[in-house]
Amino acid sequence: PLTSNDLIEEHRICVCVRARPLNKKEQSLKDLDVITIPSKDVVMVHEPKQKVDLTRYLENQTFRFDYAFDENSTNEMVYRFTAQPLVETIFERGMATCFAYGQTGSGKTHTMGGDFSGKNQDCSKGIYALSARDVFLMLKKPVYKKMDLQVFATFFEIYSGKVFDLLNRKAKLRVLEDGKQQVQVVGLQERDVKCTEDVLKLIEMGNSCRTSGQTSANAHSSRSHAVFQIILRRRGKMHGKFSLIDLAGNERGADTSSADRQTRLEGAEINKSLLALKECIRALGRNKPHTPFRASKLTQVLRDSFIGENSRTCMIATISPGMASCENTLNTLRYANRVK
Ligand code: ADP
Ligand code: MG
Repeated sequence: PLTSNDLIEEHRICVCVRARPLNKKEQSLKDLDVITIPSKDVVMVHEPKQKVDLTRYLENQTFRFDYAFDENSTNEMVYRFTAQPLVETIFERGMATCFAYGQTGSGKTHTMGGDFSGKNQDCSKGIYALSARDVFLMLKKPVYKKMDLQVFATFFEIYSGKVFDLLNRKAKLRVLEDGKQQVQVVGLQERDVKCTEDVLKLIEMGNSCRTSGQTSANAHSSRSHAVFQIILRRRGKMHGKFSLIDLAGNERGADTSSADRQTRLEGAEINKSLLALKECIRALGRNKPHTPFRASKLTQVLRDSFIGENSRTCMIATISPGMASCENTLNTLRYANRVK
């Protein structure tokens, strides 16, 4: 397992993969595990270990990332190597982003928001909450205590290229760009938070707002990006910002041939935003002056996080272990590979 010695210091972009265990449904359908994580930074996709009649031959493929987390890893563990190092960035006047990317059902919300399986409705173990916890811990350090920093939180979603405030009954918000290329989400609620409990309440509130009125929570969340932000302000001025994003599911291929026009448009919008995101992160990693942030609402809203000296990003690519998911899994791994 990973230890603190494995922590990579000082990289602008961190890309890692997290595999979840095979779930009950996959087991009952006799799906088979095709993922092995043989070391702390390698993921292998291979034929199932069990002998089966394969309808198609699965070529062994190996990918290397900054970190690879296997099915036994906990949120706390994943957090420690991904988002936790970014908490410091926002105290040093930086901008940080952490994305969960992957197909629907692969574990994005489990990783970012917390455990919502069965009776569990616990957002305290997700990366949103763990980050908030550490922000308040950092604030207790003498060096930051005397700086008089204030913490605020926002929570919104981007659905079909439109922004909705999850802390204000899903109010639809406009995005404006001024002459200096500053992007503003007009009227976005920024809530004053004093402790981790305050943040947990906002996460719960936003989560219930996110899915209210929807026939299926997963059907909706799979098609929208959720953005949770922790903002540090000093005398009213922004000091640093941490954006934590639970992205829309990346399995959109099928949508492009859907009979339903709305579904096709949504699928196209998601594809566009995920492509734009990849380009923006790549530009950040290469210190390119021109970030193509205007290509989607998601990247436009996150513009200030992709520029500047002190911007850092991490991407957690989540994968399902089953053979039935292997096409999506390979797409996820290839995308993550290209981000850096
Ligand atoms: P996504 O948000 O990517 O659609 P979810 O986070 O909702 O996926 O996960 C789908 C299901 O798998 C949920 O029931 C969740 O509790 C479970 N799950 C996801 N990741 C893990 C994990 N690492 N360990 C155990 N269960 C997981
Ligand atoms: Mg989800």
